Amino acid sequence: MKKKVYFKTFGCRTNLYDSQVMMGALKEYDITLNEGDADIVVVNSCTVTNGADTHVRSYINQIEKKNDAKIFLTGCGAHTKGESLLQEGKVHGVFGQSEKLKIDTLLSTKKPFYDAGDLNFIDEAVVDDFVGKSRAFIKVQEGCNFRCSYCVIPYVRGDARSMEETKILEQIRRLALNGFGEFILTGTNVGSYGQDSSTSLAKLMKKISQIRGVRRIRLGSVEPIQIGDEFKEILDEPWLEKHLHIALQHTSPTMLKLMNRRNVYKQDRELFENLASRGFAIGTDFITGHPGENDKLWDEAMLNARELPLTHIHAFTYSKRDGTPSAHMKPEVNGKIAKQRLHEIESLIKEKNLEFRKSYKSNLIVLIETKKDGLYHGLDQHFNKIVLESKEDLLGNWINVESYESKKDYNYAKL
Ligand code: SF4
Repeated sequence: MKKKVYFKTFGCRTNLYDSQVMMGALKEYDITLNEGDADIVVVNSCTVTNGADTHVRSYINQIEKKNDAKIFLTGCGAHTKGESLLQEGKVHGVFGQSEKLKIDTLLSTKKPFYDAGDLNFIDEAVVDDFVGKSRAFIKVQEGCNFRCSYCVIPYVRGDARSMEETKILEQIRRLALNGFGEFILTGTNVGSYGQDSSTSLAKLMKKISQIRGVRRIRLGSVEPIQIGDEFKEILDEPWLEKHLHIALQHTSPTMLKLMNRRNVYKQDRELFENLASRGFAIGTDFITGHPGENDKLWDEAMLNARELPLTHIHAFTYSKRDGTPSAHMKPEVNGKIAKQRLHEIESLIKEKNLEFRKSYKSNLIVLIETKKDGLYHGLDQHFNKIVLESKEDLLGNWINVESYESKKDYNYAKL
């Protein structure tokens, strides 16, 4: 009988993708979705903050206590914490994400090992399917050339480099043949796709849209300065999701400078207003409590956030990451205050989201993803949640919803 492997994925969509690739490459082992049954646990780790490292470590401790599965570590944490975990005997092997296609060999290695892999590596893997998902995540690039002062990612994922266009298109063609209609383009810094190969994200998206079966294209996240003239030309295309996630990280100009961001609030506002006037729902990433964020700057940030046509937010409290410039910045912000600020901005954007949903008066185009307690759940073209009641089996279907009710956190319809 083949040994069973359980994959535990921490962190972002890139890791989700990498885990999928490892599962696809596994031939000598079976995959189990039940941690308790596993002979081997592969921890695909995240190291974005000191807190993320702690989560990975306590997960490994917990596995050690529960069963005697062999543990392997990969993902970003392999570069920061891999050696120490190996030395402590907590994990049997550590490998960088560039080595993931060799997973069969790595898991069969008898002696403990550390294989950091290559930080300039670029994926060649083609994934055919995403088990249990109706949307497919496609990694188009890896790494980042930005140097935001709080971020460790460029040091563990390397500089920006793009996947080969032919490989991406081949991957999407196969997935579309397998019934996928929605594609989410991801990467460490998706908007920098093509800069190293004299093409661009907009050009790539146009090509993807021409593949038979492709209905909707979403982008993981882009930076404001990456929405240039060429990108603006595709904004009215029917295949582009009417929602963009544009990472601001802050709305106070002083804080943006401290965070070494490349976006400038005044320009961000012009851009967002332009996108909103074209019908886009707009989401952003935001960090509260970065060193230097005093009351005055916070008030300014909230004032600015109120002015922006935002509909979604991924807000995080700042968490120190050793080895980054922000780790030495003073004055630090009390954790409680950072949390309050997080709640403040989240509830503002919740209100704005409800306003947006209430004022939208047209049909919703929904892809149904899950069924829970007899109700269908999906996302519309604005990335808003919808819950549907229906006697028909809607799972995996595209539905055009004409009439619905806007509840506090989602829309609701009975078909
Ligand atoms: S853009 Fe900034 S926050 Fe995002 S990965 Fe690059 S350095 Fe980190």
